[in-house]
Amino acid sequence: MELIKFFEELRKEDVDVAGGKGANLGELTQAGIPVPPGFVVTSATYQKFLEETGVFDEIMGILNDLDVNQNKELQEAARKIKKIIIGARMPDDTRRTIIEAYNALCHRIGKDDVFVAIRSSATAEDLPEASFAGQQDTFLNVQGNDDVLKYVQKCWASLFGARAIFYREENNFDHDKVYIAVVVQEMVNADKAGVMFTVHPSTGEEKILIEAAWGLGEAVVSGTVTPDTYWVEKETGKIEEHQVSEKNVMFVRDPDQGKTVKLPVPDDLKNKQVLNDDEISRLTELGRNIHNHYQFPQDTEWAIEGDRIFMLQSRPVTTLQEVTVEEGQEIERTIITKGLGASPGMAAGTVKIISSTDELDKVQEGDILVTVMTTPDMVPAMKRANGIITDEGGVTCHAAIVSRELGIPCVVGTGDITKILTENSMVTLDGSKGLVWEGKLIDTSKKEETTEQPAMFASPLLTVTEVKVNVSMPEAAKKAAATGADGVGLLRTEHMMLTTGVHPKKYLREGREDELIRVLVENILKVVDTFYPKPVWYRTLDAPTDEFQSLDGGEDEPHEHNPMLGWRGIRRELDEPEILKAEFKAIKKLLEQGYTNIGIMLPLLQHPDELKEAKNIAREVGLKPQEDIEFGIMVETPAAAMVIEDFIAEGLDFVSFGTNDLTQYTLAIDRNNQQVAGLYSEGHPAVLKLIERVIIECNKAGVKTSICGQAGSIPSIVEKLVELGITSVSANTDAVADVRQTVARVEKKLLLKAARKLMYGN
Ligand code: PEP
Ligand code: MG
Repeated sequence: MELIKFFEELRKEDVDVAGGKGANLGELTQAGIPVPPGFVVTSATYQKFLEETGVFDEIMGILNDLDVNQNKELQEAARKIKKIIIGARMPDDTRRTIIEAYNALCHRIGKDDVFVAIRSSATAEDLPEASFAGQQDTFLNVQGNDDVLKYVQKCWASLFGARAIFYREENNFDHDKVYIAVVVQEMVNADKAGVMFTVHPSTGEEKILIEAAWGLGEAVVSGTVTPDTYWVEKETGKIEEHQVSEKNVMFVRDPDQGKTVKLPVPDDLKNKQVLNDDEISRLTELGRNIHNHYQFPQDTEWAIEGDRIFMLQSRPVTTLQEVTVEEGQEIERTIITKGLGASPGMAAGTVKIISSTDELDKVQEGDILVTVMTTPDMVPAMKRANGIITDEGGVTCHAAIVSRELGIPCVVGTGDITKILTENSMVTLDGSKGLVWEGKLIDTSKKEETTEQPAMFASPLLTVTEVKVNVSMPEAAKKAAATGADGVGLLRTEHMMLTTGVHPKKYLREGREDELIRVLVENILKVVDTFYPKPVWYRTLDAPTDEFQSLDGGEDEPHEHNPMLGWRGIRRELDEPEILKAEFKAIKKLLEQGYTNIGIMLPLLQHPDELKEAKNIAREVGLKPQEDIEFGIMVETPAAAMVIEDFIAEGLDFVSFGTNDLTQYTLAIDRNNQQVAGLYSEGHPAVLKLIERVIIECNKAGVKTSICGQAGSIPSIVEKLVELGITSVSANTDAVADVRQTVARVEKKLLLKAARKLMYGN
């Protein structure tokens, strides 16, 4: 059994042994990329520790008696288990091996007691991160044999935090099947550091982008400073453009305490260019090598100490990249139809026309799903599809929302595509322009390669106006989080409920409230955990009756003439408070497990009494609105916007503009009706006037404002909202990076305007 593996001995396949982080560092090292040296205490070492010290039986003894729903008990059990793990004496041969490895590392670097970073590294990538929870643990600036041993043991103990135990129990993961490895790596005391993308992060062009600032990389990664930027032509290494910014703060390691401290940048360095030509060229070379090695664009972190350059991290970049039409194909293009571009990207594949859910199996990996309008039970087939085309719908319909979140190109509102296309023919679609062509105009093998990669591009820009993301499918939470969003401004509930196939009322009618709560907890947990500690606003159920009819138990759903104006949102929830109560109980459970990052948002209100009543129901289940949990409403009806002062007087923490509905109700345009889709405009002056008055009143009262409708993903509208003083903007996953850029630009413009006014009075 190998207790220790140096990075040189590991490859990316060695996740079982070294965990994801350890295996990745091994891969980079083996590829000849200079990463700070180090080793991994393997997962087998952890296993051996549990067995030989006998602590696992002790731990299981505690867990067997535990009811994870009793929060106090859970916290106490976690505390006890951690104490047991940290307190147990590591087997002597393990101690010796780790110390020998640490000393070998010191010897190799040529210093005594080298500072190292110690991080836990999760070993089963297919299990959700939350089942490890502890993998977030990183201990920096650790020095000396005793402390190295101590912190390795702390990483092991972190596997038994309350959240991790709760998660594993809730999802029936065996505690003894989850192993952890620990990475021990030299800390680089960087003079300068930053990030590097091996392609243009938004357009995918063959350019290298380097961002650099003084000191450790935290300043750039966290967005605390505006870094210098360098654009380099990838092939030639020519610096095409660079911008030197004013860098006011830097992070450095305090030599006395070994801690990371934030200091002002010395005056002579503030406006000085960070990287010289030689460093830019060496970094570019490394960028090329890493990109070639992984055969995929990479988002990396680097550091320079003296004249040594190190790569600290490398992850795949997936921003939305248009797949280009193959050379020579343009002339053969025949446009079949034009609809609305609902989810960007190009896709090609075999047409499968779906007229009822019984036919979903027809859709195989890589096909194009064609249907009148998608429904929630089509989601599994949508996931298999390369692209989606519908007859009906506008850009906020079900097909549009789901495909954007899944990152699948989609065209909606074509009118009659289901009648025009023939089954098994080949088509290509452009989800930005809304076009559908005959034949296969792109290389789909390239497309498949790109969609397999997780989205990992986190925008390093920092903005005062928060940029959040909308989530409808908990399984897409990771992808949403990888955008670097500041939280979830809208977590839709409908998908979670509808995918069970059972009407929530049926659970309640049959006395199965616990089951309904469990479904909700399980789903919400995936999101609040992924984003923890960033806020997640859970929007209570808002499903029009027509969407619930097909569910088991949905036979009694009323047939409404216009469901969009009907029994949905808060009005239905107050009529059927048992569903709302179950939702609140699920939230309370998560709050008790420590997920204090959750907030409640009510949909479709038109009178403050609805807010009052909902708060009372929350109190009935033991929640304290505005005390232990943020409570807010969506502004989706003109009525709510017109009397927002009365809602404020009733008491709320935030409002969020649901412009999909606000637009349809203000302009009298059914958002799902493609006949009138041409008139649908969130930028209509009447919609903007309503929004403006709400922002003004809320800002006066200290109530936060946000937007989670589709307009929050439209840069020209976001620009206006930032100017009006909105607190946050919540966009679709695919739009977060662009929205962040827009917000940053507008904020700078406003600052400049204010500064000029101050200086010149105009
Ligand atoms: C909205 O109406 O803008 C909104 C975000 O809610 P939904 O699209 O779920 O109605
Ligand atoms: Mg709405």
